[in-house]
Amino acid sequence: MNKPNPKPVGIPQIVVVGSINMDLLAVVHRLPRPGETVVSLGFEENPGGKGANQAVAAARLGATSVMIGRVGDDAIGQQLRRSLRESQVSVSNVRTTRGKSSGVALITVANFGENTIVVVPGANGALSPTDVAAAEATLQSADAILVQLEIPLETVAAVIDVARRHDVRLILDPAPACDDLPHDMLKVDVVCPNAVEAQQLTGVAINKPADAEPALKQLLRRGVRLPIITLGAQGAIFADEGEIHHVKSFPVDAVDATAAGDSFAAALAVALVEGQGNLAAVRFASAAGAIAASRSGAQRSMPTREDVDSLIMEGNRRSPADG
Ligand code: ADP
Repeated sequence: MNKPNPKPVGIPQIVVVGSINMDLLAVVHRLPRPGETVVSLGFEENPGGKGANQAVAAARLGATSVMIGRVGDDAIGQQLRRSLRESQVSVSNVRTTRGKSSGVALITVANFGENTIVVVPGANGALSPTDVAAAEATLQSADAILVQLEIPLETVAAVIDVARRHDVRLILDPAPACDDLPHDMLKVDVVCPNAVEAQQLTGVAINKPADAEPALKQLLRRGVRLPIITLGAQGAIFADEGEIHHVKSFPVDAVDATAAGDSFAAALAVALVEGQGNLAAVRFASAAGAIAASRSGAQRSMPTREDVDSLIMEGNRRSPADG
């Protein structure tokens, strides 16, 4: 599986296997203490979940985007399905789980930025290896598969197995951080953790780009073909053909880093499928991450192709050499 995949022609087909959530966000003056009730200053309902965010990001960038996931048999499930469809994501592989709620994140944000988050996996927890087997033809026809860790690990393992058997490029975004990822699950084409997730995977603390090298080398030894560690405003660092490259971030006014990593992962998939070289693909992904960080929200902050291309052109005018 470590041989390069053939360069496809036409529009990239990205299949995302992952979580579909509704983020229910209450803004409060201050976080309630245990047993206390506080009155909210505002409320928002935003479709989220790492899987759905990445599927929307891929569609926004012009790819054919297919979601494999599960929602509950509740009103939120119908809303989530509709919202994916409105974002041009195919939902024919999104199944409804009887007797389960949809995935929900209950978020409380205080005025000064502190927050609490309770995640209810709901139907995401029911996405099973059987669902993956049922979608095998869809996965096989993908130019790239994106998968994250907000679904059961055995399901992620089944996706990796299908990708290997059919030699489909697989990008694993190992988020949220997980310290018991079976070793064999890292033998994939691309892994793109952020600093916290990379530390969880490798035990290496990463506070600045120079700290990332031993973690990248460990990921290479463990079988990742292209390990990339994202470092927020400090950019992204990756190992390729024995060399370490640091791609600086695009300077933007950061407003809300939510889903920057999801935007990055989806853009990376699109660029690699298009046959962009690894350095160009990481730059493309970095531009997509920067734009998501410069806008508030998750799915609504995802950039279009034109947004990304124009940020890259602007970056080239300012500093042509990078990496
Ligand atoms: P995650 O959202 O998974 O924690 P990061 O915060 O590392 O991921 O962001 C992913 C990528 O998005 C970064 O590598 C960077 O290229 C871009 N990015 C994120 N935050 C910023 C920022 N404040 N300014 C510019 N680019 C950013």
